This record gives sequence, structure tokens and C-alpha cells, in this order.
Amino acid sequence: MKILKTPAAMRRWSALERRKGKTIGFVPTMGCLHAGHAALLERARRENDRVVLSIFVNPLQFGPNEDFARYPRTFSADLALARKAGVDAVYHPSIEAVYPDGFQTSVEVGGLSRIHDGRFRPGHFRGVATVVLKLFQASAPDRAYFGEKDYQQLVIIRRMTRDLDLPVKIVACPTVREKDGLALSSRNVYLSAQERSAAPRLYEALRWGAAELRRPGADLGSALRGMRAAVEEIPGVTIDYISVVEPEDLKDASGLDGPKRILAAIRVGKTRLIDNVRA
Ligand code: AMP
Repeated sequence: MKILKTPAAMRRWSALERRKGKTIGFVPTMGCLHAGHAALLERARRENDRVVLSIFVNPLQFGPNEDFARYPRTFSADLALARKAGVDAVYHPSIEAVYPDGFQTSVEVGGLSRIHDGRFRPGHFRGVATVVLKLFQASAPDRAYFGEKDYQQLVIIRRMTRDLDLPVKIVACPTVREKDGLALSSRNVYLSAQERSAAPRLYEALRWGAAELRRPGADLGSALRGMRAAVEEIPGVTIDYISVVEPEDLKDASGLDGPKRILAAIRVGKTRLIDNVRA
């Protein structure tokens, strides 16, 4: 397994593989890998000749009061997981390699970046889109794998890929959960034992909401109120938002025709949790 540290080294490796006629599947992450990331890698392994994993904690996507400094970094365990998943190359650049002195370009996916999570994390999705475009440039993938766990991010990356004619297929992978329903997240390590035991109630509430919306004569307002009431019972919770949206453009649903997505972000103590389900 190769470890590549600069955009130039990554690009050379990919160019060589592509000249040999190999297809490349790419999985971008911030490390602290868990079974959710492993599922993306396994899918990439099945569908491509070569698999590239990137591990880069991207400072551009963290707000000034967010957890960049304390974001968990577990590089040697990540390499072990990558080897087991059959990764061919790990792209692990330094911050200076990605953002050299004088760096000042960014990519912003218009309105999609300012709604839902974007309202609570200004600049977050600009940081995500910018780094993902740079990672695509370096790894030159045929396919790139993203988790539905970060549903708004997935929609934004799809939009950027279409808008900028990027020659990569975006593949969405279902959210991997703990047995009790909590979506796996590198940030779950921040939860205290008490918070951890209450956290699955978020998914429970969303699932209840999805079932409620499928009932004949369903009512959007009462489903939303019911979900909020259920989530408010989590001790120490603050709700950032719970929204029923159109799955493609993330606009708030006005009626209940066709499939919807329920998106939510809450804070439990100091930890921010996001989740979403199909409805
Ligand atoms: P992260 O390193 O956690 O920012 O995420 C890297 C990629 O893994 C993103 O595409 C995430 O959506 C995906 N991911 C994170 N957690 C999960 C999960 N529980 N299930 C599926 N994909 C996930």
C-alpha cells in the first residue's frame, strides 16, 4: 500500500495506473476510520481496479469555534483498516501541501451550501467543496464514494460534479449504524456514557417521522412536531433543525407527494450529531 503525501505524487500515481488502463475508486475521509468508512472502501474495492483512500483533516471546513484541534486522529489504526480493506494508495497530504502560502481560491455550491447545516456552519460546505475538488484533481478517480450519513454534503458534491463537468461518478452509500441505531461517526467518541445511551433516540425519532409521513392522510406539520417532541426528551439536547426536504434539491417539502428526506442536526452536550432518513 502506497502512502502519498503531495498532490503531485498522488497525481503521478493515478496517471500511471490510468495509463495501464486501471479504473480508480476514491474514498475521501478525515480519518478516525470506522465501519462506515470501511463500507465505502469495500464498495470501491468491488467496483474498481484500484482504490485510493484520502485521510486529511481539512481545516477549511471547520468554523473558528469548532473541533479542528481536537478532531480525533488515529493514523496507524487507519492504515491497518485500509490494508484490510485492500486499499492500494493512501493520500495523506500535510495542510501546507494542500493549502500552500497564498492559497485563496474556493468553490461554493450556491444556495445548497447556505441551507440546513449551512445555516449553522457558515463556510463549512465551501471548505468541503474546495477540498473535494482538490482531492479529485489529485486522485483523478473514475468513481468517488460518499456516505448518505452526510446527506447534504452528498447532494452538494453531486451538484458540483455536474456544474463543473467533473469526469467522476459520485456513488452514494447507505449509512452504517450501531446496533442501537446511532449512525457511526468519528465524533461519537466525544459523547459521555449518558449522552451515548440517549443518542439513538435521534434515529428513533426520524424513523417514527418517516413512518408517520407514509401513513394515509399523513400531515407534515404534525409529523415534524412529533419528531421535535421526541428529540426534546434527550437530556441536554439543543435542536439545530429537523426538516422534511425534497431529496434532490433539499428544498423544504411543501406537500407529501413523492419521496422525501428527513434531515436533522442536534447538539447533545458539546457534541453535534447529524442524521437523516428516507421518507
Ligand atoms: P468523515 O471522514 O467522517 O468526514 O467521512 C468520510 C466519508 O465517510 C463521507 O462520505 C461520509 O459521509 C462517510 N461516512 C461517515 N460516517 C458514515 C456512516 N456511518 N455510514 C456511511 N458513511 C459514512
